[in-house]
Amino acid sequence: RIAYVNGDFIPLVDAKISVLDRGFLFADGVYEVTAVIDGKLVDNAAHLARLERSLGEIEMGHPVPLETLTALQLELARRNSLNEGGIYLQVTRGAAERDFSYPKDAKPSLVMFTQTRNLVADPRAETGVAVVTTPDLRWKRRDIKSVSMIAQTIAKQEAAKVGAAEAIMVEDGVVTEGSSSTAWLIKDGKLITRQLSNSVLPGVTRLSVMALCAEQGLEVEERTYTVDELQQADEVFITAATTLVMPVVKVDERVMSNGAPGPIASRLRQLYIEMAKKTAVG
Ligand code: PLP
Repeated sequence: RIAYVNGDFIPLVDAKISVLDRGFLFADGVYEVTAVIDGKLVDNAAHLARLERSLGEIEMGHPVPLETLTALQLELARRNSLNEGGIYLQVTRGAAERDFSYPKDAKPSLVMFTQTRNLVADPRAETGVAVVTTPDLRWKRRDIKSVSMIAQTIAKQEAAKVGAAEAIMVEDGVVTEGSSSTAWLIKDGKLITRQLSNSVLPGVTRLSVMALCAEQGLEVEERTYTVDELQQADEVFITAATTLVMPVVKVDERVMSNGAPGPIASRLRQLYIEMAKKTAVG
């Protein structure tokens, strides 16, 4: 596999970054994952817009002009013969003497690598996935796509322990989001997902699914909801660049939609994939 590190395309095994990099020492960095289908970038403009926002929120400079990022992502996909999967992109504040406040002269680091993954023909979409609920242990600026993810790794491990695909994080009795996804429920034909705020990441897939719902005349309500509402829903699904639209068939011990992917979630998955293929860039 080939990685991109600060201007160079090099074998991933040789890719290295300084131990003084602030990403390593302080998790002082942000990232994006863009889905790749048929070798093309899905929803990438929205991912780069979110990257721009994340960088701005932590006053971090751009390692390369944003306009050139798409070309670098596509070149990396090409060099890896990536047909389907994801491109991971990370920007950290760079290497500097260890000191908490922002260094004046550090040069931001840009690292990218690819991961092959079945997105369209993901077998989990046929069966649906199980999720577990778990406390949301994160910080208070979850709208920034920070590389500080120990809380999410703990949550995901809780899920992995019981063979579940995702952990749905809960705070003060209400659902925030999945550890690496946006959570949705459907009740009486209406879709419900949490409203945007500092408490959740503004999901790129979420945004596209909202647009699809508008086209389809499906009503979406953006609001907080409880674990109880999630478990009493007609259907549950999660969205992310790494899973697209993924039906959920079990929440903790409770079996959802008779243990099979629900009709609306399945239809939205199909529509999302059609849209992704049509609008992907490359
Ligand atoms: N919420 C969190 C906490 C995430 O980490 C992710 C993706 O990694 C998402 C939501 C989904 O975002 P997107 O649809 O942009 O992949």
